[in-house]
Amino acid sequence: MKIAICSSEVVPFAKTGGLADVCGALPLALENLNQEVIIAMPHYACVNNSGIAIKKLKPGFSCATIGRNVKVYFIENDQYYNRTGLYGDKTGDYQDNLLRFSFYCRKTLELLKIIDFAPDVINCNDWHSALIPVYLKTHFVNDSFYKKIKTVLTIHNMAYQGLFPREEFSYLDLDESLFSKDGFEFYGKINLLKGGIVFADYITTVSQGYAQEILTKEFSCGLEEVLRKRSNDLFGIINGLDYSIWNPKTDKQIFLNYDRSDLSGKKNNKEELQRFCGLGVKNDIPLLGFVGRLAQQKGIDLLSESFKEIGKLGIQVVILGTGEHKYHALLENIAKQNPQSFSLNLKFDDTLAHRIYAGCDMFLMPSQYEPCGLGQMISFKYATIPIVYRSGGLADTVFDLNSNSEDGNGFVFTSYTKEAFLDAIKRAISTYFDRGTWQKLIEKVATYNFSWEESAKKYIELYNRI
Ligand code: ADP
Repeated sequence: MKIAICSSEVVPFAKTGGLADVCGALPLALENLNQEVIIAMPHYACVNNSGIAIKKLKPGFSCATIGRNVKVYFIENDQYYNRTGLYGDKTGDYQDNLLRFSFYCRKTLELLKIIDFAPDVINCNDWHSALIPVYLKTHFVNDSFYKKIKTVLTIHNMAYQGLFPREEFSYLDLDESLFSKDGFEFYGKINLLKGGIVFADYITTVSQGYAQEILTKEFSCGLEEVLRKRSNDLFGIINGLDYSIWNPKTDKQIFLNYDRSDLSGKKNNKEELQRFCGLGVKNDIPLLGFVGRLAQQKGIDLLSESFKEIGKLGIQVVILGTGEHKYHALLENIAKQNPQSFSLNLKFDDTLAHRIYAGCDMFLMPSQYEPCGLGQMISFKYATIPIVYRSGGLADTVFDLNSNSEDGNGFVFTSYTKEAFLDAIKRAISTYFDRGTWQKLIEKVATYNFSWEESAKKYIELYNRI
């Protein structure tokens, strides 16, 4: 089968979150299953820093290769993409994002004809590429080259829908009638994700739990009705991990490699991380980590609220993240008050992320909701125990040790309160000091396999169905 994956971010070229991990790894897994895959993404400034050679193709397009022979095509437009951020800067989202991403969608479809690659399926991801199914069925509908192409729209997070002022609709170069309740209109604004949901042949999301949740008012961020209309075409496929990137045995970014058959190297990673973060170097102090976007979704409010009590538990916490300014300020304040036990790193730093997964004993994911979540799966591989709120993909993968001892592999809180969160942390700490139980636990989780192979097979099954 011929497959085109379209995404605004792809590892190793551009990343702000899990979307990039997924869109870098799924194509390689599909290629390993003998599918013919290409990727299309914008040519941001950071794309040139990946260390992978990029060749000019035709005016407006360039190309690189990943995996055995997965071609990654970059849509060029210096005015739109030659900037430091992907979506915005310190002052907020770029004002011309509708133009930037509608340009990317149209050019991607043009590219297919230029390179003579008529895919069986285009798999779009999130709002940035959600216009592709729309343009395919409008602008390109009379061109026989595009006739047989089907589309899948994968939603990674309902909270990001690509909302723009109604006045910008003319920039999309679509019939005005599409700005309607059954089309792009959303409380008076343009909603690009909604347009994609209406026009795509199939819709997927990144876990089965989240596929159910987004049909409800609580999780759909206002799109429950349009999703319910498409519920027969909506599927949940859990994300996998690329173990050529996330594996403590081969990871070049951590302090010392270790393997599930001998986890003793984790101790060195912990001590080096403590040193690196300016924390007291002591192996018997539980070290808790957090890596993620500093957004409300990720539970930063709960973490901040709980910090006074967390500070009294005799543990250390290392946080790596970047995001909303209010959270930067909130966490900086906490860091000032707890210099001995709290290491705050307000940046995007891939190496430090790897070191946190490897060096910490526990990984915090108090996310209010989590479509899939990669942090808990990465943690398992590095023999680090997740502490999570039961939601979406976290509910699918992390089971509480106390309430379900057979499957138990972490600490789960089920009411979204400071008390319940602290209780989960305390239970984790007391289990940590029960050395035999803890050792068994980390040995168990390190054997888990969340590789892409199974999930990639499910994507192929779905593509075949269309
Ligand atoms: P989301 O997609 O909602 O951001 P996920 O858990 O699915 O969350 O994936 C987050 C990915 O981004 C993980 O690979 C995580 O390690 C990485 N990440 C998030 N923030 C940072 C950061 N500040 N520095 C380095 N890596 C980060």
